[in-house]
Amino acid sequence: MAHVAFIGLGRMGHGMAGRYLDAGFSLAVWNRSKAKAEDLIARGARWATSPADAADGADAIVTMVADDAASRAVWLGKDGAARSAKAGTLAIECSTVSYGHALDLARELRGRSLIYIDSPVTGLPDAAAAGKLTLLVGAGPADLESARPYLAPLSTTIRHFGAVGSGTVYKLINNLMGAIQIAGLAEGLAIAEQAGLDMKLVLETLETGVAASPQVIRHSKRMVARNFGGATFAAALRHKDAVYAVALAESLLSSAPLMGRAAVQAYDRAKAYAPDDDEGKMIEIISRPKDSTP
Ligand code: NAP
Repeated sequence: MAHVAFIGLGRMGHGMAGRYLDAGFSLAVWNRSKAKAEDLIARGARWATSPADAADGADAIVTMVADDAASRAVWLGKDGAARSAKAGTLAIECSTVSYGHALDLARELRGRSLIYIDSPVTGLPDAAAAGKLTLLVGAGPADLESARPYLAPLSTTIRHFGAVGSGTVYKLINNLMGAIQIAGLAEGLAIAEQAGLDMKLVLETLETGVAASPQVIRHSKRMVARNFGGATFAAALRHKDAVYAVALAESLLSSAPLMGRAAVQAYDRAKAYAPDDDEGKMIEIISRPKDSTP
């Protein structure tokens, strides 16, 4: 039976880890806070005392943590997975990390004879739990073939962009465009509200008009209703993605990424306001009327 180590059991990682149990893999799990692992342990996962313990004996190590710092800690920290992983183990980074970090991590892990695949994902936590994510892969073709049995439980669609790092490049572009759309939507809806438009009519017209995208449609009703229950993607994570994407843009474009920087500024405020709440709360910041205190 193939052994998988899964590290990071947040909104996304918890459902992804469960997919390996559904598919009959032997699974070791680690999360910074153990409580999120309890039901997976009850279903047969082995609780590991550290990322290194999880990686011990694994054929593939899959990580889904918040950001560069968390990724560095779980792979390369004192008790990181790289300490105990055997040569030839697949190292699959699914977290959204910066391009620079993806390349650095690949170099470090290759230096320890691991096979690094960058595989950030699109899809929300419900898609993660259902094995219906889209994987944005950067890997050598042979490495991707070796990884396919370990990617299959997670996804219906694999988009192979090229060499290691290229999946992360596309993921950052995707999430920067999402950040711009969500901030733009909040601004448009806030103007409509303050101008006294019929918001039911605004929503109907928006959804059938050319400004709508799946991202805009997903957030518009919730923003107008101020319904942010069941947060799927936190403001702090959207901010992190925009910051990483702008750094990438600045390394590639001669002119400053105007929209990207505006999105970072908008999410600076959203992160300060409610970092762990749904990213759609942007509307609460933008919709304050002109004469209200900031
Ligand atoms: P989340 O619910 O906030 O979970 C974050 C995970 O990272 C938790 O397991 C957390 O551990 C861990 N973590 C944070 N800092 C750490 C550190 N210093 N050391 C070790 N572990 C640390 O986030 P999520 O929504 O699952 O997102 C996870 C990744 O997927 C992020 O890179 C995000 O950008 C990306 N993503 C998210 C979505 C989405 O819709 N949510 C979609 C696509 C991609 P604790 O549980 O102990 O806090």
